[in-house]
Amino acid sequence: MQVPAPFEYERATSVEHALTLLEKYGQAGRVIAGGHSLIPMMKLRLAQPEVLVDINELAELSGIDATPSALWIGALARHADLLASPEAGTLFPVLHDAERVIADPIVRNRGTVGGSLCQADPSEDLSAAFAAVRAEAVIQGAAGERAVPVREFFDGPYETAVGTGELLTGIRVPIRPGTGSAYAKVGRRAGDWAVAAAAAVLTLDGDTIDEAGIGLTAVGAPQFVAAEAEDFLRGGAATAERFAKAGAIAAEHCRPAADQRGPVDYKRHLVAVLTTRALALALTRAEA
Ligand SMILES: Cc1cc2nc3c(=O)[nH]c(=O)nc-3n(C[C@H](O)[C@H](O)[C@H](O)COP(=O)(O)OP(=O)(O)OC[C@H]3O[C@@H](n4cnc5c(N)ncnc54)[C@H](O)[C@@H]3O)c2cc1C
Repeated sequence: MQVPAPFEYERATSVEHALTLLEKYGQAGRVIAGGHSLIPMMKLRLAQPEVLVDINELAELSGIDATPSALWIGALARHADLLASPEAGTLFPVLHDAERVIADPIVRNRGTVGGSLCQADPSEDLSAAFAAVRAEAVIQGAAGERAVPVREFFDGPYETAVGTGELLTGIRVPIRPGTGSAYAKVGRRAGDWAVAAAAAVLTLDGDTIDEAGIGLTAVGAPQFVAAEAEDFLRGGAATAERFAKAGAIAAEHCRPAADQRGPVDYKRHLVAVLTTRALALALTRAEA
């Protein structure tokens, strides 16, 4: 069935208006941003919202700004906006690495950063990238605003911490000096979803790894995070041998499923290789 079930449509004119509409319609209402994930799901009748609340006019949710302590990315920033942002690319190259390999320009021109996170598809590239950089998701509702670490944002495939009547307004990424980051992905063809991918973030204190962030895409890592590999790296030297060991640990602890993109052993192999590769590039960038 390629035709959505009937639905009503409301265009929000401000964040307050969007929240009023979401409160009014409760579970029957659903935010629509770029629509690149929601509309296909509605056509397949995997989603059947009775009312769509369109947030595309909310320019206040589109900005990307940096302060000395954090990078702010509005939920309505398009993939293309993030890719075009010099602040994002300089502070967190992992975000530009990931954006370059998300879909194609048509999807990137319309799809939003917030929609990507809220879709919570296990293959979504930005989820792993934002988990690796330890970003916070800022959520607004009738009761006010709250910040949820991206590492606690996902309640499982297609489920997030955004509740009924709430709106994701943006993502805040803390800035730490001495940090480098990178994303490495293998897809079957250009613009395709990941077979597997790894995000790596290293914060150095001299020659020692003060903090490590490793996010994994499409391989069943809890909250997209390779926590055991991070624990291994933290407090030790940043060497090629230890990066390879961290890759092996990440591969051992993730839980990929066999599907049309490949068998489990191939995906684990990719996790090991891509994690090692992303860590090496993150180190180069941290030292630059
Ligand atoms: C052909 C194609 C290829 C793709 N390839 C890739 C890929 O390689 N890698 C990848 O990561 N992604 C890929 N995508 C997914 C794409 O990144 C997402 O579809 C898109 O970014 C989702 O954003 P959107 O604004 O379109 O979300 P929508 O479709 O509008 O919404 C998605 C979900 O998020 C909710 N939502 C949206 N915004 C908010 C908000 N601010 N607050 C609360 N809830 C909200 C909606 O209610 C809905 O449940 C691909 C998509 C297509 C169509």
